[in-house]
Amino acid sequence: MSDTPVRVFQARGLKRFYRMGDVTIQALRGIDLDLHAGELVVMLGASGSGKSTLLNILGGLDVASEGSLHYREQALTHASQRQLTEFRRHHVGFVFQFYNLISSLTARENVAIVTDISRDPLPPEEALAMVGLEQRLDHFPSQLSGGEQQRVAIARAIAKRPAVLLCDEPTGALDSRTGIRVLEVLEAINRTTGTTLAIITHNEVIGDMADRVIRLRDGKIDAMHANALRRPPATLRW
Ligand code: ADP
Ligand code: MG
Repeated sequence: MSDTPVRVFQARGLKRFYRMGDVTIQALRGIDLDLHAGELVVMLGASGSGKSTLLNILGGLDVASEGSLHYREQALTHASQRQLTEFRRHHVGFVFQFYNLISSLTARENVAIVTDISRDPLPPEEALAMVGLEQRLDHFPSQLSGGEQQRVAIARAIAKRPAVLLCDEPTGALDSRTGIRVLEVLEAINRTTGTTLAIITHNEVIGDMADRVIRLRDGKIDAMHANALRRPPATLRW
């Protein structure tokens, strides 16, 4: 096995400003960060510290104001909207605090929406089995618990076999036990598929599951530490 980690993201001097009339809000003030293939990275930090802004820029939902960001060889900082859309469609899965499921569609159909536009998708049944919902294929969101709905959203995100999975407070609307179950599902997906996984969460247990914990403060990386106990990052298997 090779020891050399494969770099997936390279951010250098990443800044994000929001101009609001006369005021400029500095959401990111210069982020230098490498993310490696197969890693599970957790981002912590107080509300307003820039976590969502950073995750959105990594995922091509937003663009930095200054600095550079590469996804492998591709310079995302100079990509057109069309290129960013392609990047998101083929490489990135997103999971948010609110599940954004379509209430008139079953779990299977909510996942199938994504697989219909993907190049080499997992069958919806397989994606739902990976999150432990093989018995809930024909349930509608209203017939599922919050944790189950979030697992449908995770199945939808992984059905396109993304190289990168980005989760912004996926447990934010769940009680702590249910949240832990969701984090365990995400950790298992990272371990079995090798997808690079970044999670923003306030749930303490994630620290033990992660390869690295990155703490943001006022738009900068305040601390970063590797978890030596965790197994080496997986290689992408899909
Ligand atoms: P976090 O996810 O850590 O809570 P955010 O990345 O959402 O933090 O926000 C970082 C800072 O940028 C905050 O001060 C926030 O108010 C500001 N911000 C975020 N999005 C916008 C926006 N669309 N317009 C103006 N300011 C924003
Ligand atoms: Mg946020």
